[in-house]
Amino acid sequence: MSKYILAIDQGTTSSRAIIYNPALQAIASAQQELPLSYPQSGWVEQDPAQIWQSVSTSISLALQQANLTPADIAGIGITNQRETTVLWHRSSGKPLYNAIVWQDRRAAKLCQQLKDAGHNSMLQQKTGLLADPYFSAGKLSWLLDNLPTARALAEAGELCFGTIDSYLLWQLSGGKVHATDASNASRTLLFNIHSQQWDNELLQLFNVPAVMLPQVRDNAAEFGLTDNRMFGAAVPLLGMIGDQQAALLGQACINAGMVKCTYGTGCFAVVNTGDKVLHSEHKLLSTIAWRLNGNTTYALEGSIFMAGATIQWLRDQLGIIHQASDSEVLATGIDYQQTELLVPAFTGLGTPHWQPQVRAALFGLTRDSGRTQIAAAALRSVAYQSRDLLIAMQQDGINVSSLRVDGGMTANRWFLQALADLSQTAITRCHTTDATALGAAFLVALQLGYVDKLADINTIWHSDWQLQPELSPTLADALYQRWQRVNAALVALNM
Ligand code: ADP
Repeated sequence: MSKYILAIDQGTTSSRAIIYNPALQAIASAQQELPLSYPQSGWVEQDPAQIWQSVSTSISLALQQANLTPADIAGIGITNQRETTVLWHRSSGKPLYNAIVWQDRRAAKLCQQLKDAGHNSMLQQKTGLLADPYFSAGKLSWLLDNLPTARALAEAGELCFGTIDSYLLWQLSGGKVHATDASNASRTLLFNIHSQQWDNELLQLFNVPAVMLPQVRDNAAEFGLTDNRMFGAAVPLLGMIGDQQAALLGQACINAGMVKCTYGTGCFAVVNTGDKVLHSEHKLLSTIAWRLNGNTTYALEGSIFMAGATIQWLRDQLGIIHQASDSEVLATGIDYQQTELLVPAFTGLGTPHWQPQVRAALFGLTRDSGRTQIAAAALRSVAYQSRDLLIAMQQDGINVSSLRVDGGMTANRWFLQALADLSQTAITRCHTTDATALGAAFLVALQLGYVDKLADINTIWHSDWQLQPELSPTLADALYQRWQRVNAALVALNM
């Protein structure tokens, strides 16, 4: 009898497939790396066909590893990199252009125009977000304006817009279902998080025809069946959720006030705010955590664009490490006397600055500065940025006494100690770096009746490591003030 759960975690740098038994223990997992391309300064793209290929290969490998067939799967959950925008033909499923990745800044000019025209507060009020190229609407607008036939085809109902969840659902269902979920919809800048509907005023502002939008469903719902040709069996798709919201659930942050921070390509601190939309005074984003049986749970989020991606830069552009874990070996032994400071604004700055035009800089170099110091500065830059997020939360009235962390970078113990030290916060690492996939699998388990309530996640989640700050608060504050001064200088330069 089919009883296993398949979670698909389509991330920025890789796609993963993880198979869980009914007790929600992972029994097999496979991963495929995914390339990004950078056609122009600030542009970041991915080939949708490669995204789909990496997902389907991961699924085959995970099934093989578990010695299972597609028919053994009782339900599938999808979690995904959010905001990344795909446009495809309704008839053939063929994409019109590469996926424009969330880090892409090409809509910066349009967003600046919207800000200048005074639309920011309306956007924030309706969507919880800001006029920033990070979100899907600006990317979609760019596609409609710049691809020769796109607008006419879209208006004729021949194109589908989707974030990666919708695109994968479309592929897996053999082109039968064009839908998304409330958490992913809430990242588009087109979705009203109060009325839970695509918003006409926003569609007009970004000049987006409503006919191209996916239908928005609860996070645990009947999303359709996989197509036999695509999947090898007709299996129900039962859960979809954006990756950061999935991690919030996987980290068992199910009560208002609980916070998690995920360190993958970027870093995202998310606090559950319960059934209330909390509008930030400090440029955090209000977003939908999940919607279950029509009931919405909201969250407040701080976003950093370059976390693990900074470590990839050390590997791919500087060539000072061969693999991400080498950064830990290099940084070990570099103390807090170090003068080197990296502001990794390679694709602009997110919370609390929201400055898409700013670019990265390395400060404080001496004749001694070399690969070890730069590796340490890169890891510490993520810790400093985390403190930025926690302070924004504090200023909005949320006190973070302890932080639940997960994601690829949390394998790095040196980084986690730097995080505890520089943020002066106790750190609790999740037992799995795959809290994201666990969140998606949990939604499927809810829908299948393997668990009956949200609180059951508490019996699955546990921590494998806790750290306390070892740096004195005075020194941590002094270092942080230097970080803030350097950031302010960079923002003032705006280059
Ligand atoms: P995503 O889901 O965004 O693709 P992951 O959670 O898979 O990201 O994490 C991958 C990221 O974590 C990469 O950017 C990589 O550089 C970083 N990473 C992985 N292992 C380490 C490590 N030991 N030290 C520092 N960074 C790491």
